[in-house]
Amino acid sequence: METIKIKDKEFSLSISGFEIEMAVSRVAEKLNHDLEGKDPLFLVILNGSFMFASDLFKLLTIPCEITFVKLASYRGTSSTQDVKTMIGLSEEIKGRTVVVVEDIVDTGHTIEYLMESLEKQLAADIKICTFLFKPHAYLKNIKLDYVGMEIPNDFIVGYGLDYDGFGRNLADIYKIV
Ligand code: 5GP
Ligand code: MG
Repeated sequence: METIKIKDKEFSLSISGFEIEMAVSRVAEKLNHDLEGKDPLFLVILNGSFMFASDLFKLLTIPCEITFVKLASYRGTSSTQDVKTMIGLSEEIKGRTVVVVEDIVDTGHTIEYLMESLEKQLAADIKICTFLFKPHAYLKNIKLDYVGMEIPNDFIVGYGLDYDGFGRNLADIYKIV
């Protein structure tokens, strides 16, 4: 089994770049179908989602706008409840279809924090699109409209996700050993 070392931790290959590609195209196909004529605004949550977002957007054929916000909740290898906005939203979202683009939904704290803020700003419809989802870690009832893959409750790196800042550039996904 292929293993890599990042700082003090070992990781083993979990999801290949090919499997990732297949999952991204499934999500893109659904979005192209469901959001036809809605002129959605995609709201990408930095940092982790940058790689998923760029692969996904290249496959979208519907007219859409794309913008970015930066939130942070993770410290080391665990999620905290304390979500912070590092760079906020500058677009007007009142009356629009907004699609939140996440790398991974874990406890759901980040999504909940964001939903509350988007609802206050009177978006017409808010959809959640996450590449990965850890159902066993999820503590919320918010519906996830588009999920690329469900994964077990292990800490992972690669494809945009980091361990202490490193590993985001990896084209495959690795899980902690
Ligand atoms: P939540 O607020 O749902 O607990 O966590 C959401 C954020 O935590 C994700 O957007 C992601 O940035 C980070 N996160 C959750 N699980 C993992 C993981 O297994 N590995 C890494 N590197 N980040 C994660
Ligand atoms: Mg994220």
